[in-house]
Amino acid sequence: MTAIALPLPEEVQAARDGILAFADKEVLPRHQDNADFFEDSRALFDEDGRFSARLIELITEVRTASATAGFYAMCVPQALGGAGLGHLAYYAAWEGLFHKCGPKHWLMLYVLAHWAFGPSKLLEQVTEQAKQTFLPDLMNGQQSMCFGLSEPNAGSDASMITTKAVRDGDGWRISGRKIWTTNAPIADYCVVFARTDVGISAFMVPTASEGFEVQRIIKLFGHIGGDEAEIALDNVYVEPWQLVGTEGKGFAAALYGVSLGRIYNSARSVGYGRWALEMALDYSQTREAFGHPIADYQGVSFPLADAATDLHAAHLMGINSAMLLDAGLPAVKELSMTKAFSVQKGLAAVDRAIQTHGAMGFTNEMGLTEAWHSLRIVNVADGTNEILNRTIAQRLYKGDLDL
Ligand SMILES: Cc1cc2nc3c(=O)[nH]c(=O)nc-3n(C[C@H](O)[C@H](O)[C@H](O)COP(=O)(O)OP(=O)(O)OC[C@H]3O[C@@H](n4cnc5c(N)ncnc54)[C@H](O)[C@@H]3O)c2cc1C
Repeated sequence: MTAIALPLPEEVQAARDGILAFADKEVLPRHQDNADFFEDSRALFDEDGRFSARLIELITEVRTASATAGFYAMCVPQALGGAGLGHLAYYAAWEGLFHKCGPKHWLMLYVLAHWAFGPSKLLEQVTEQAKQTFLPDLMNGQQSMCFGLSEPNAGSDASMITTKAVRDGDGWRISGRKIWTTNAPIADYCVVFARTDVGISAFMVPTASEGFEVQRIIKLFGHIGGDEAEIALDNVYVEPWQLVGTEGKGFAAALYGVSLGRIYNSARSVGYGRWALEMALDYSQTREAFGHPIADYQGVSFPLADAATDLHAAHLMGINSAMLLDAGLPAVKELSMTKAFSVQKGLAAVDRAIQTHGAMGFTNEMGLTEAWHSLRIVNVADGTNEILNRTIAQRLYKGDLDL
């Protein structure tokens, strides 16, 4: 049975089915084989909150196995050595992975190159020397990267960044602070945004560079460790070949990432929403109250019907935005709408699934609160919903009234 009138192109379906089969083979068994490890926060994180060596090993195993199987870089442009599948495949694969694996089998996050942590279209902007230096190990999954834009005093308004890149001979010396940088604690490279004489520019910086320091792991939602970090850059020297794109046009380089990020997070929202909805449908048919399965009560089933309707709409919006991007269109308004809507509806679906489970909904065992945490973050990360609304309104007032 299909709910979508236009089937996905064959190569997209094959890519999605292939990556889901890969998750069956390489992700789910790793979680099963290491079940005690994944349940034990003290084993997952070191004392300072970084991922433990064992966890990094498992992540690298998944990344490299996926690269070898041809999935990791399947959405990376062919010019960079990837399979060149576009945004639609990226959307379909991520949605499928989040839907299938849920929040507990989270090694799934490393099966497909995330635009900010692995190779992506963003790297089309780097110099030939940079490609030769770091592309091979990013493509084969041995190494990873991170995206350093936000700063303590510059979030939604990224134009407020104060990190500076000051000329030194042919190159620059970068000094400043970055915050919330995901994957920074384990990344080998960081795309650092800094002000040069001519405007905001982006540089590819090895995290092992002298003066580059991950200062603090940021812990979220009561976890004892995390993947977001605060970074200090103190006179970090970068050479001309490390510039990403054109000097002073750093935001243009960032835009490639932003589109992929919004596709990713829309897919994450719909995927988790579907995973949670299906759990709620199952549970409501077995849990009884007042002599009947709770599914018999419309107070239980109608909100689930609403959630399904919303997720269906979000899914269609995701597919549409991805297709617009694949057609070479910027889809600024549509993608903003898609991400804002998908996050709200995904979050609402997970919340409704928690309610359907009663007290069980709050247990670690169910994983529903983990999905809720994940989507609650997406309402801020990668452009808050207010900022997305601001973008949509700006487009409308400029006369972009096509809906
Ligand atoms: C888990 C996580 C991971 C992240 N990973 C990264 C990363 O890898 N790299 C990176 O560079 N950044 C990352 N970020 C940072 C993220 O991009 C910022 O959090 C986001 O841009 C919002 O900035 P802020 O948190 O400083 O909020 P602020 O910009 O301070 O906003 C605070 C509130 O004011 C609202 N607001 C601001 N301006 C307006 C306006 N004009 N109209 C209406 N409301 C407004 C916002 O919507 C928000 O509700 C991450 C954040 C999180 C939570």
